[in-house]
Amino acid sequence: MIVLKNVTMEYEPGIKALDNVSLNIDKGEFVYLMGHSGAGKSTLTRLLLKEIESKRGSIFLNGKDITYVSERKVPYIRRYIGTIFQDFRILEKKTVYENVAFALEILGVNNKEIRRRIPIVLSLVGLSDKAKSFPHELSGGEKQRVAIARAIINEPPVLIADEPTGNLDLETSFGIMQVLQDINNKGTTILMATHSMDIVKAIPKRIIRLDHGVVVQDGYDEEYIDSEQQLEL
Ligand code: ADP
Repeated sequence: MIVLKNVTMEYEPGIKALDNVSLNIDKGEFVYLMGHSGAGKSTLTRLLLKEIESKRGSIFLNGKDITYVSERKVPYIRRYIGTIFQDFRILEKKTVYENVAFALEILGVNNKEIRRRIPIVLSLVGLSDKAKSFPHELSGGEKQRVAIARAIINEPPVLIADEPTGNLDLETSFGIMQVLQDINNKGTTILMATHSMDIVKAIPKRIIRLDHGVVVQDGYDEEYIDSEQQLEL
């Protein structure tokens, strides 16, 4: 589903944000992307979203080589990947329903289809009774659920979650994790950048850990999680 082969990314000559990174994420996997600030996590997700381009290595998405694509094709690639962020990024002046509908309107989906799909996705994220609420009437966890609904309404095969629980308390975070796992169980591949040792420990999954642009761990390493947790205390 997501393949990187020897990808090196330099924003400035000689300074490697990613250094010869190779990895393979299969369809339906749920992978944590970890590493300290500056390790290269955002660079990796931005390469997938075609916000930046690497000059060395190859990137494949669903079997297609997306290393170099014309500007014209970028929107099609982005449709393939839903995104959610730490700061939610939902529209404050629109209701929950309108926030999700907007994502379909810009793709030209007709109103009948929009009305059909939204209740299904709001139910999936646990917001069926909040369709008419405005963001200021919602908790942080509920706002993130709106963002998730919007990200998956068009059923992208991949969801990139950039610290989705970074602004939420632990209990709320686990609620969001449940929603993400439900989505993953329906077949969506999820790549989630996180710093939360509590979450990765409670919900162990494959961890790809970057350090100075290099993959230094791929898999679940309990010893590492424990040692990092000690440092946090
Ligand atoms: P993370 O998301 O893990 O915090 P980043 O991918 O943002 O890490 O950053 C990786 C490295 O690339 C860092 O050294 C950072 O300073 C550098 N970097 C990130 N964005 C830019 C940019 N736009 N211009 C120059 N250097 C950048």
